Amino acid sequence: MASYWIETMGCQMNERDSETIAGLLEREGYARAAAADAADVLVVNTCSVRENADNRFFGLLGHLKAVKDARPEAVVAVCGCMMQQAHIVERIREKHGWVDLVFGTHNIHELPEMLAAAGGRMPPLHPNEAAGDGAAGRGGLRGKVHVRAAREAIVEGLPARRAYGFKAYVNIMVGCNNFCSYCIVPYVRGREMSREPEAVLDEVRALAESGTKEVMLLGQNVNSYAGFSGRSVSFPELLRAVDAVPGIERVRFMTSHPKDLSEDLIALFERGAGGAARGRGLAHLCPSIHLPVQAGSSRVLARMNRRYTKEAYLRLVEKLRAANPEIVITTDFIVGFPGETEDDFAETMDLIERVRYDAAFTFLYSPREGTPAAAYPDQVDEAAAHARFDRMVARLNEISLEKNRRLVGRVEQVLVEGPARTGEGMLAGRTFSGRLVNFPGEKVAPGDIVAVRITDAKTFSFGGELVE
Ligand code: SF4
Repeated sequence: MASYWIETMGCQMNERDSETIAGLLEREGYARAAAADAADVLVVNTCSVRENADNRFFGLLGHLKAVKDARPEAVVAVCGCMMQQAHIVERIREKHGWVDLVFGTHNIHELPEMLAAAGGRMPPLHPNEAAGDGAAGRGGLRGKVHVRAAREAIVEGLPARRAYGFKAYVNIMVGCNNFCSYCIVPYVRGREMSREPEAVLDEVRALAESGTKEVMLLGQNVNSYAGFSGRSVSFPELLRAVDAVPGIERVRFMTSHPKDLSEDLIALFERGAGGAARGRGLAHLCPSIHLPVQAGSSRVLARMNRRYTKEAYLRLVEKLRAANPEIVITTDFIVGFPGETEDDFAETMDLIERVRYDAAFTFLYSPREGTPAAAYPDQVDEAAAHARFDRMVARLNEISLEKNRRLVGRVEQVLVEGPARTGEGMLAGRTFSGRLVNFPGEKVAPGDIVAVRITDAKTFSFGGELVE
């Protein structure tokens, strides 16, 4: 049986795309290979958001070249949002002409035809023309580049090979309209487009019927979801409908732009002292929110084109904690954004003290070609940015640990995810609020929800014991 191997770089949206790519390949009769060097089709699904994405991708291509040299009949395909950038495709064309197939984020559904055209063993469904991006049809990639500049519609009904049985990613929208000045996403993922509510609900119902207990609704900015079902449907309305699907016990979402976080959405988090939903609160909505702030200086936020101020962000945090004092709040920070001064950074550190995040992802600013901020003249000195980064991470970690220690002794409902990395016989799972707990356990399986007493708090995880 022919086989495939897929490497996913980047975010949850990319992981979800890889599930579709794997689903399409399996529908065509391919089986998953254990390793790249045994596979007939090798796919690299790239991300252009993370730091050093280009270096990591081209480093990986170097390894795949060895596979291709050893087995020239293997098909190497590269896809994902890096392929939406002409300079990347150009570099592949010039230096890696041996790559068999390049396709963009809006072409995934055409994989069977593209692969057949590139020499894979799938029969072509119909003759496929390469959609040009300027690099197609030239040099080493003649006829192998399929990159649509924009998405015409969301293609529904594609198969997926889900990474887990008990939890699943569900895209509710694609693209982004926000054009934060440092971010490449609107250029590579295109404009916002929301799935129809019924399509989302059909997917969630099918997942629930096959045993999925937790869904994570995905979008670059779920708060601006605007589905249509005879009338416009907002994100809070969609959440209510998903929350009511029988069998779904946990609902999460990612990511939430602070400028679009509505009172309606905040109300869905309402919970009483015992943790039960109250008021307009939803029973299955997990009490956690990832609310990327990026910086604490309103001046820097304006230059980032984030369209909120530090004060407005702090008011949102206040409202979220009024709805549920126990809500877990996590965030992203970019350190060393062009023009960031010591005073600006002090504003960020002040925001950290005031919010006291449960966890945060921190990034050193690095320019993305084609974004406005990459052309800003006042790039921050690297040593200064590193020093700020280290100070910030140290303080964020201290706060996380202080907050985590308060949970020791509590009993939490933990959804078991599988073996833990912490040792033989250990399991890992997540609390309702998304905290990672490692605990010894037998006779429990991935997907079970079990009571676990927290016995130990670390910065990023907890130790626990099963409660009989
Ligand atoms: S909201 Fe801003 S940071 Fe997020 S994907 Fe859109 S442009 Fe990028």
